[in-house]
Amino acid sequence: MAGRLRLLPRSLDPLEDESIHGYLLRLAHRFGAAPLEIAVRTGLVDPVPARNRIPVRLLHDLDERRLDAFARATRLTRDEARGLLTAPLGERYGPLSARLLAEFRTPKGMVHNNRWILTRTTRYCPRCLSGDGTEIEERHGGCWRRAWRLPPVFACLRHQRLLLSGCPRCGQDVNAARTGSLIARASEAGLHPAQCRATVPSTRAMCGAGLAGQEDRLPRAPSAVAALLRLQHHFDGLLDPDGPKLVGSFGWLIPAAQYFIDLRALSALIFMTWPRARALADTEALAVLVDREAEERHAEFAKSRAEAKAGRRRQASHHYSDPAADPAVAGAVLGIAARLLSAPDENETHELMAPIIDGAKERNFSMSYQFRRLSGTSYPLQAILLTSRQDRGAFQRMGQRIEGQGFRRLAAAQRLT
Ligand SMILES: [Zn+2]
Ligand SMILES: [Zn+2]
Repeated sequence: MAGRLRLLPRSLDPLEDESIHGYLLRLAHRFGAAPLEIAVRTGLVDPVPARNRIPVRLLHDLDERRLDAFARATRLTRDEARGLLTAPLGERYGPLSARLLAEFRTPKGMVHNNRWILTRTTRYCPRCLSGDGTEIEERHGGCWRRAWRLPPVFACLRHQRLLLSGCPRCGQDVNAARTGSLIARASEAGLHPAQCRATVPSTRAMCGAGLAGQEDRLPRAPSAVAALLRLQHHFDGLLDPDGPKLVGSFGWLIPAAQYFIDLRALSALIFMTWPRARALADTEALAVLVDREAEERHAEFAKSRAEAKAGRRRQASHHYSDPAADPAVAGAVLGIAARLLSAPDENETHELMAPIIDGAKERNFSMSYQFRRLSGTSYPLQAILLTSRQDRGAFQRMGQRIEGQGFRRLAAAQRLT
C-alpha cells in the first residue's frame, strides 16, 4: 500500500444524507478493496500495519488535515466531504451540539461518552438499502443515512415503514457493535455494502445476510406504525436544515436543537418512573412495548443499585437515560415525551409532569436530580423540573427573565405568524 496519498482513479458522488460509514463501504465495493485500505488511501487512517480498525469518531468529525486529504483523494469538495459527517447535524439535533452541551467539548468525547448518537451500530431501512433503481445504486446498494444514527429517527417516511435495528437473520448488530471499529471486518475485501458484518458466535463465521429488502421479524400493529410515522414526520421537519427554527415547549418557543435535548431528559424520566406516563402512549400496542422495556430497565437498575450498596461499583444511571435500541420502543417513548412538551400552558404542564417528577424523586432522588438538571435543556423545561410545584411564581419569573432574551410565548408567536 502506498504511504503517500493518491487520488482514487474513480470516485463516487455521495448520496443524499449518506454517512461516511456508508460512503466508505460503497467505495470499497467499487474498488474491490477492504474498507480499511480505502480509509488509509484517503487519509482517514494513518497506515499503521498492526491496526485493523477504523476509529468510530470519524463518523462524527474530521480535523482539518484529514478533511482536506479525504476531500482531495475522493475528488469531493470540502463541503461534500463534511456533509458525510454527523457533526453538522448538531445544528438541528442538540444532543450533538458542542455549543449546547458543554460536557462534550471534543469530537472524541462527543462520540465516546454520548449515548444519544448511535455510534456502534446503526438502524436502517431495508428498502433504502435496496437502492433507488439507478445504475450506481443497483451496483453498490443504496444509502446508509446519517440520520439513522439519531435515536429520534426510527422510521423512513420515504418508504412509510419503521427502521430495523439488528440483523433479521442472526439478530445481532449489523455492524458488530463490540468491534470498536466504524466498520466491522474493516480489513476484508469483497463484501457488499448491504451485508450484515456480524460474527455468528457458534461458528465464528461472518453472518453475511443481505439486509436490503428484509422484513421486520416482529409484526407491528398498523395503528402503532401510523402513530410512529406521524411522530417521525414531526421530528424530520425539525431536523431538516430548512425546517422551522423554533418549536413549542410547555407553551414557549424554543430552538429546535434544544427540543431534542428536552426529549432526551424526558425520555430518562419516563423510563425511570414507568408506568406513570403510560396513559400518554399513542396506542395500547406502543404502551405494551414500553412495559417490556421498562421492566428490563427497572431490573437492571435494581441490580446495579444492589451492587452499588455493596460497594462493588458506582450506581449507573444509563439504565434509564440510554435511548431504546428498538426503533418502535424509541418512538413510543419519544412520542410520550413530545406529548408532554406539547402541553399548552403552565397549569396543564404541572398536571402532566407532577406524577413523573414525584415518581423520579421517590425512586432515587440524586439520580432524578441528575436527569432534571441535564445540561442544555430549555428554560421552560428547567422551570418545570427544578422548581417546586407549590412555587407558582416560578414559571412567571422565568418568563420575565427569558422574554428579555428573545424567547416568546407560543400563543403570542402564533398570533404573529
Ligand atoms: Zn427507506
Ligand atoms: Zn447477521
